[in-house]
Amino acid sequence: MDTEFLINGTFTGGTGAAEAILNPRTGETILDLPEASAEQVEAAVAAANDAFDGWSRTTPAERSAALLRIADRIEADAEAFGALEALNCGKPINAAIGDEVPAIVDTYRYFAGAVRNMHGPLAGEYMEGFTSMIRRDPVGVIASVAPWNYPAMMMAWKLAPALAGGNTVVFKPSEQTPLTALKLARILAEELPKGVVNVITGRGETVGNTLVTHPGIDMISLTGDVATGKKMLQAASKSVKRTHLELGGKAPVIVFDDADIAEVVEGIRAFGYYNAGQDCTAACRIYAAEKTYENLVADLTSAVSGIAFAQDDDTTNEIGPLISARQRDRVASFVERARELRHIDVTTGGSAYGENGFYYAPTVIAGARQEDEIVQREVFGPVVSITPFKEVDQAVQWANDSDYGLASSVWTKDIGRAMSTAARLRYGCTWVNTHFMLVNEMPHGGLKSSGYGKDMSMYALEDYTAVRHVMIKH
Ligand code: NAD
Repeated sequence: MDTEFLINGTFTGGTGAAEAILNPRTGETILDLPEASAEQVEAAVAAANDAFDGWSRTTPAERSAALLRIADRIEADAEAFGALEALNCGKPINAAIGDEVPAIVDTYRYFAGAVRNMHGPLAGEYMEGFTSMIRRDPVGVIASVAPWNYPAMMMAWKLAPALAGGNTVVFKPSEQTPLTALKLARILAEELPKGVVNVITGRGETVGNTLVTHPGIDMISLTGDVATGKKMLQAASKSVKRTHLELGGKAPVIVFDDADIAEVVEGIRAFGYYNAGQDCTAACRIYAAEKTYENLVADLTSAVSGIAFAQDDDTTNEIGPLISARQRDRVASFVERARELRHIDVTTGGSAYGENGFYYAPTVIAGARQEDEIVQREVFGPVVSITPFKEVDQAVQWANDSDYGLASSVWTKDIGRAMSTAARLRYGCTWVNTHFMLVNEMPHGGLKSSGYGKDMSMYALEDYTAVRHVMIKH
């Protein structure tokens, strides 16, 4: 197992305090990993600054070729990457290898193509005797800070557009899930010039804070909690760094009375509980038209009670445990507080599961009201609430009545109703008759407290490049 950091093209062990890296399926320690010291953060930032001049002057074709090589190497080692991610996160092995690794490989390939196809406004004479042109150039050195729910995928979403755009990077995975980042560092060291990507690990308040407040950082890219995003903004304000923030979500799902209930149930069963609900786009907040409500609660309860988890044969599991005992207990406390309300009915699940590991049973909460905590706050676990609504205006108002603005969906057979509802939803994405589907060509990112800046798509490449004007006197 790879445990060393990549700093300036060489590998070195952490010299800071050790963090226990756990297997969420058993609760056992996989290994103790020392975090980066302040000197190691300093060295990583210095290396990224030194590498910037060379890397920023490579051609798009050269950067594209490097990204394609990285993609090929991950693909060639897909089983090992998937197995390591499954070990560190508790993800079912089939999901890690079959769903995530191909999506990760595609992210590197997409940006390899995208950077050779960027286009923009025309050059021209906007003042007599002068020619103006617009350039898109790298921003500089990026501090990339990632969460624990999709470690290698978040690394791809951050590294691929940053590298394509000609930036250099210091990457810090979550202190809970550093293993695939350290494995990928071995490939990055062979496929990129030294210092272009540096990988260090450690806690947010120590390593992360030292990194994002460093004057040698030009842009902070975070996927994480809203509270962490606010800290990034404070850190950024000291030297006016750019920020790219992908924060939490609480996705509303509006089910109209003409929706195909079987499809809705199948969709919520899959997209509300995937990754044990530890997903910022999870279909977790259902608004069902009164006519469909009773049937939906009954059918969803029965479907969700059949979700396979905690089986010894991991190939049969549909979802895994939560990432930590802390996260499991947090989810449990949300459900306990909801259960205390007389109007709420926990129709399936509603408890932690098993002696070992951090499992929580897939849960359906019926009868939730708009003002309830379970409807308002991000749970980040396998818990879905259902609330009946009377008319479309009420559903749209409730859906938008959230601090978050990342993802949403509308389920109906009426295309006009789907379009007019989608237009009113204040979310970075609205799916119609589906949920959760992401493709590298399309942007992913939020409004309101869900942050700003896009991952995936040409928009990410724009976020990781700066618009510049060059003017020539004739
Ligand atoms: P988190 O905010 O606790 O941690 C995210 C990262 O920030 C970690 O690497 C952590 O070490 C680092 N960090 C924490 N405090 C820091 C500080 N003061 N300075 C610098 N770095 C610091 O989030 P998490 O618990 O790892 O992930 C779950 C959260 O991420 C959820 O809220 C979820 O919705 C969100 N998320 C959002 C998206 C999205 O695309 N919008 C995707 C995945 C996860």
